[in-house]
Amino acid sequence: MIRINQMKLNIEHTSDDFERKILKTLCIKKEELQGFQIRKQSIDARKKPVLYYVYSVDVQVRDEAKVKKTVKNNQIQFQVKPDSYHFEVKGTKELTHRPVIIGTGPAGLFCGYMLAAHGYQPILLERGADVDQRTKDVEAFWENGRLNLSSNVQFGEGGAGTFSDGKLNTLVKDKFGRNHEVLRIFAEHGAPESITYESKPHIGTDVLSAVVKEMRKYICAHGGEVRFHSQVTDIQTHSDNGQKILRKLKIYDSQKKETYLLDTDLAVFAIGHSARDTFSMLYQHGLPMQPKAFAVGVRIEHPQEMINQDQYGKNYPSFLPAAPYKLTANLDNGRGVYTFCMCPGGYVVNASSEEHRLAVNGMSYSRRDSQNANTAVIVTVSPDDFGSDHPLAGVEFQRKLEEAAYLEGNGKVPVQLFGDFCENRPSVQLGTVTPHIKGMYQLANVRNIFPEFIAESLTEGIQIFDHKLPGYARCDAVISGVESRTSSPVRLIRDQSLQSEIRGIYPCGEGAGYAGGITSAAMDGIKTAEMIASVYHPFKMES
Ligand code: FAD
Repeated sequence: MIRINQMKLNIEHTSDDFERKILKTLCIKKEELQGFQIRKQSIDARKKPVLYYVYSVDVQVRDEAKVKKTVKNNQIQFQVKPDSYHFEVKGTKELTHRPVIIGTGPAGLFCGYMLAAHGYQPILLERGADVDQRTKDVEAFWENGRLNLSSNVQFGEGGAGTFSDGKLNTLVKDKFGRNHEVLRIFAEHGAPESITYESKPHIGTDVLSAVVKEMRKYICAHGGEVRFHSQVTDIQTHSDNGQKILRKLKIYDSQKKETYLLDTDLAVFAIGHSARDTFSMLYQHGLPMQPKAFAVGVRIEHPQEMINQDQYGKNYPSFLPAAPYKLTANLDNGRGVYTFCMCPGGYVVNASSEEHRLAVNGMSYSRRDSQNANTAVIVTVSPDDFGSDHPLAGVEFQRKLEEAAYLEGNGKVPVQLFGDFCENRPSVQLGTVTPHIKGMYQLANVRNIFPEFIAESLTEGIQIFDHKLPGYARCDAVISGVESRTSSPVRLIRDQSLQSEIRGIYPCGEGAGYAGGITSAAMDGIKTAEMIASVYHPFKMES
């Protein structure tokens, strides 16, 4: 197979133009072309207003050797092997019980999917509700402010990503093909095929919700089981030669309002970054963990039209997607400020999961058609800022900010104009940017939430961003807070076997500190499933 890299076509090209470009690049006739697949597609706006798509494309031709002889072009690779992901089942140890996966976020879902697909009959435990019930719970919270502690933007089927922007790009290296496999599986269960080659794949909360439901159906059809409203509240271990080994999980069924024990010799803890009670429980059992740097800040909203014009040029074609951006700045105080989880055409969401604490995040639908662009603007904080060396000090640091945000907005999302944020005065009216927020909001002084070093870093960072994207620091840009759940504040230590020192516990995904984002969490779920399959036989249930 031949791979053409950096194949550039005008943004308005047709499929005929595309094929002609392949023929021209390879100096072949139409009859010699047997087929092609796009591997990557990105937009090149460096010469705006002229915009291009840049492709990497795999091409099958009748006589590759002939093309190799005639074409000299360093953008072309020959004898390329197609990417193929392979899940190997080579374990020999017997499992006494079905493997258990705690959490149905991307990490748990993909781990469960792979294990179910290969005969391990996993049980997935999820403290929250299935996606349909969860959607109702979340929408009710946004409307009336009454938080459901187990079914919210952080907890429930699909995990923290379900009410998200559904960006699926990751910076994690993909030596083993897991990234492509995640996208392929998403596409197989209802996401558009184009996510497998777009450089910035995006599906939005509407598509993602449908996809996770289809993946759950697949798991159940392949011998797995998913139990909602099932929160792991404790573990029981036994000791063998001084080593703690997992024996049972204590589970609270919040629908039946009863607690039961589940025997297990293997549990994947894919609990996400917001399972603070579960972190505490594991800490009390002596599971080794350490605090971890993360980042905190605000969401900022601008008109999407302003961003589009900056990124694509003034008279950009209307078929282009709402434009994303990414900005970073290094400040004199040694801290980094950067944009994170940018949501073109999106909404800010009240993403709280604890009573009297408030956190925000960003979300979009597949069409990305709201009037505003929003992004987190965040500052790195490290364990030195937490005021204690306790492994869970980062959680307490987040909680303080979230309590301050809740107070500042009287339980609603506190909102402020950037001009007022700089002047440290509460906003009393909005400017021309109308907040697009899911959840109730209130004008306030968002700056009050933060210690001065964070507030000052955010102000400086946003002013620096204005040099890169003019208008960014406009006085009426809408700030809301607090963006505190950017990644896990703790790492649950695991060894090369991906187990914790408490044997049988596999910390996995973002909450355990091994991923950041939907795709990388899913990849870590796959990696954990691979590890389990390298040690254990598929499970055989006694009839
Ligand atoms: P989670 O998705 O957090 O899943 C953990 C699951 O475990 C939850 O469902 C929880 O209910 C369950 N659980 C926790 N404790 C227990 C317990 N004791 N018993 C039973 N179940 C338990 N990332 C992107 O890549 N792109 C985006 O566009 C994006 N947008 C986001 C928007 C929002 C609003 C939010 C909140 C996050 C967004 N993220 C995004 C981040 C992304 O969602 C996370 O990185 C990802 O979901 C982490 O996956 P995970 O499986 O490790 O954990």
